[in-house]
Amino acid sequence: MDDYDYDVLVIGAGPGGYVAAIRAAQLGLKTACVDARETLGGTCLNVGCIPSKAMLHASEKYEEVASGALAALGVEVSASRLNLDAMHASRVNVVRGLTGGIAGLFRKNKVDWLKGHAAFASADSVTVAEKTYRARNIIVATGSTVAPLPGVAIDGKVIIDSTGALELPKVPGHLVVIGGGVIGLELGSVWRRLGAHVTVIEYLDQLLPGMDGDVRKEAKKLFAKQGLILRLSTRVTQARESADGVILTLTPAAGGAEEELSANIVLVAVGRTPNTRGLALEKAGLAINACGQIEVDHDLRTRVNGIWAIGDVTPGAMLAHRAEDEGIAAAELIAGQPGMVNHAVIPSVVYTTPEIAGVGLTEEEAAARSKVSIGKFPMIANSRAKANHDTDGFVKIIADAATGRVLGVHIIASVAGTMIAQAAQAMEFGATAEDIAYTCHAHPTQSEALKEAALAVVGKPIHL
Ligand code: FAD
Ligand code: NAD
Repeated sequence: MDDYDYDVLVIGAGPGGYVAAIRAAQLGLKTACVDARETLGGTCLNVGCIPSKAMLHASEKYEEVASGALAALGVEVSASRLNLDAMHASRVNVVRGLTGGIAGLFRKNKVDWLKGHAAFASADSVTVAEKTYRARNIIVATGSTVAPLPGVAIDGKVIIDSTGALELPKVPGHLVVIGGGVIGLELGSVWRRLGAHVTVIEYLDQLLPGMDGDVRKEAKKLFAKQGLILRLSTRVTQARESADGVILTLTPAAGGAEEELSANIVLVAVGRTPNTRGLALEKAGLAINACGQIEVDHDLRTRVNGIWAIGDVTPGAMLAHRAEDEGIAAAELIAGQPGMVNHAVIPSVVYTTPEIAGVGLTEEEAAARSKVSIGKFPMIANSRAKANHDTDGFVKIIADAATGRVLGVHIIASVAGTMIAQAAQAMEFGATAEDIAYTCHAHPTQSEALKEAALAVVGKPIHL
């Protein structure tokens, strides 16, 4: 080991960092992982993916009872009551179990967990809790935090970020969500289901930027039908505290007369910003780009030899599974193996009801590159969706018109997050729409809608 303490030192124990550390250790490299939090798992396990899904699941169950949806299936529940404390306790328990599980995996794989804030001392050394460690390879996996919104300072009481929105001690009368992106719609849905009036204010003229145009239009229709009040093409410029919460100043995105809107609680969800503050990147010879990210090449190497970067701190989709796959690839490349991530095939899922999922190019992106064939199939014509009374949404396949190769798949359906895995795998193997259309799909499943959309690309669906 010469005078190196580690072969690999990972900064950040989110899905990128902890996975990189475990993979590096599995490959026989002496590995440490540093994190400033008390528990492992980063944003995703502590305050992101997992607790938000716990609240989405629990609130969905509550709404199934409270809205009469279960009664419509013949399941009558004599009295429904929200026990928010128990719901929170269940969320906390899930997070505790999973973050503790990572600590167990670190012990099993002999990854040293260094607790504290890490800062570079040089290009191959890092200081944590006043001790400096030298490593042959350093992987920066410091993730991201909520982006601030000028004029609307988060106070953790009436103006909150996503972490605050996971933990509200009571259902707000009127929750205003600033940002009609993934966090705004997921957490806005949680509190609407639990009884809040929820207004979503979005700067753009559609929700969910970056998603397929048809999906964005359908999402707007469905969320409005569910009772979210959508204020599109609107900007929040200012917030001031009031007796019962906050008064926001709104302006049309195109300019025009201001108006005021009162809220009991305001959730700021206008994006996330990479974590590089306090890392002393300059001591390692590193810099950030105009968006605050650390740039890497195709192999996740920064411009400094021996320093790698993965996940939310680098350019690309801020998704846990991208970070995980990059963590595995970085560890394998460090070990001299051919690690890689196909960034063209990274699925994304919004865990609302129905779920919204996509992989590959949107129709707009694909059509700008080549002539495309589109196949669409509505969930209302899918037998399993009918049987479950879950008929909102559609499957849309975008294929290259000349070759039939699938370029993108976009799904709105109750189980879209599960269905998209098949589409991602097909695309990874270079499938054509015909390959999907002639793959036998089990009946009755929502996945048959994918087969039908593929049949629509190559000719005609059967059930339409
Ligand atoms: P992170 O998970 O952010 O982890 C970085 C870790 O590094 C943190 O623990 C941080 O404390 C630590 N750290 C930072 N700087 C230092 C330092 N100098 N020294 C020591 N430690 C440091 N993505 C999905 O794919 N699916 C979802 O369902 C989903 N839901 C989400 C819900 C919410 C509410 C939020 C906020 C995010 C969600 N995301 C989801 C996004 C997902 O959480 C991130 O993309 C993912 O966590 C990024 O992983 P990462 O390893 O890059 O960084
Ligand atoms: P986002 O980028 O998804 O959405 C932010 C929205 O805020 C955009 O629609 C944007 O147009 C709007 N906006 C920006 N400034 C505004 C303003 N001044 N007034 C009104 N609207 C404004 O960001 P997010 O929802 O904060 O989520 C952050 C990241 O976390 C996302 O990139 C996402 O990848 C990740 N995430 C993923 C999941 C998931 O995979 N299910 C869940 C939560 C978060």
